[in-house]
Amino acid sequence: MFNDAQQDILDGFEGADRANWNDWRWQVKHCIRDLEQFERLLNVKLPEKLEEEFRKITELFPMSVTPYYLSLINTDNYENDPVFKQSFPGINELVIGSSDMDDPLHEDRDSPVEGVTHRYPDRVLLLVSNRCAMYCRHCTRKRMVGDRDSIPDKAQIMKGIDYIRNTPRVRDVLLSGGDPFLLSDDYIDWILTELHKIKHVEVIRIGTRTPVVLPQRITPELVTMLKKHHPLWINTHFNHPRELTATSRRALAMLADAGIPLGNQSVLLAGVNDCPRIMRSLVHKLVYNRVRPYYLYQCDLSRGLAHFRTPVGKGIEIMENLIGHTSGFCVPTYVIDAPGGGGKIPVMPNYLISWSTNKVVLRNYEGVITTYKEPDSYEPTFCDRNCDNCDLELALDDAEEWRAVGIQKLLADYDKSISLVPEGNARHSRRDDEDQA
Ligand SMILES: *Cc1c(COP(=O)(O)O)cnc(C)c1O
Repeated sequence: MFNDAQQDILDGFEGADRANWNDWRWQVKHCIRDLEQFERLLNVKLPEKLEEEFRKITELFPMSVTPYYLSLINTDNYENDPVFKQSFPGINELVIGSSDMDDPLHEDRDSPVEGVTHRYPDRVLLLVSNRCAMYCRHCTRKRMVGDRDSIPDKAQIMKGIDYIRNTPRVRDVLLSGGDPFLLSDDYIDWILTELHKIKHVEVIRIGTRTPVVLPQRITPELVTMLKKHHPLWINTHFNHPRELTATSRRALAMLADAGIPLGNQSVLLAGVNDCPRIMRSLVHKLVYNRVRPYYLYQCDLSRGLAHFRTPVGKGIEIMENLIGHTSGFCVPTYVIDAPGGGGKIPVMPNYLISWSTNKVVLRNYEGVITTYKEPDSYEPTFCDRNCDNCDLELALDDAEEWRAVGIQKLLADYDKSISLVPEGNARHSRRDDEDQA
């Protein structure tokens, strides 16, 4: 669990020993925030130009790296190092593109109460901590990093929980931040207990990067506490196979042994993991450690991320290299989180090539073009939502009713809509109201 690189860094902290190193609070307290210390601990001398830029960038977007995560940087080639790139400020962060936005996902606008983003019908995002041990340079919530004024206190979190209590459609709550695992065990225990008191909350998810940047945080005490709160899911954020160290893997094993299903959300980052081989190695290592690759995100339009973005085609190429070539459960869903708050939109290579009334033409991952013969006769079940008179068995006792939206609505028999029309469509506004549909 301890290597030379870690010993070198530990030696840079006077009087510190391995017990300190393994103590997450020590790690957090000793995060590297200034350049001099960064250079001293890694024993590197950055080009003068970088040093000058450092001050300019960190005024806007501060740096913070745990000693542990710092120890993963390969100092022989730090310029190209994926850990360095994710943690050390780069001048490109000051390059603001014409399409960059402060809050591209409209998390603040889709917020019914502070700290809650309610975007989808049945689940909400609850920001419970604005602290992070490591400030990812590609953070989508960069606007909040180091923003001391917005630290949510117990009263504010309670307002969020009250919102959830008063919104029966919410069956899934995602705790995020910041990193929820920078809160104390007792505090997390309190939040989970309050949420579980709400009958309609069926499942809770926690998004945390601590298994990657602060694996010491996953302590036996934390895990024992989490176990009381099933069903609990955890999503973490590995971007590169190098991040799966012995310490990280042990943290993941502890969580998995506690019966917590683990998922991973990666961000596609230029110069870090925009390579089919790196991604393939990453997803294999994740699965080997009982973590299911969940999402691969297209880097979003937050300010200062332009240098991390790839074309969407790079993501599709990576998906092309995964689907069929490796186990289905190694393959994440590639998504673009729509600017303006539209939510995550999955994108994929095309597999459906053509179709007629009773046949579809498909291609597989090998390039084989094949056909699927559809049934010549199919008696669809007409659905008018009158389940009592339906031949299909749906025990509705427990099932919740929902209103069809979007494309689902166009497909439904019981809804008479024949088109979806953008608001303010000029042609439609010339007509009478009667004709709108
Ligand atoms: C990603 C996200 C969710 C969860 O989406 P899933 O597809 O269910 O994982 C919920 N709310 C917000 C605001 C999100 O960004």
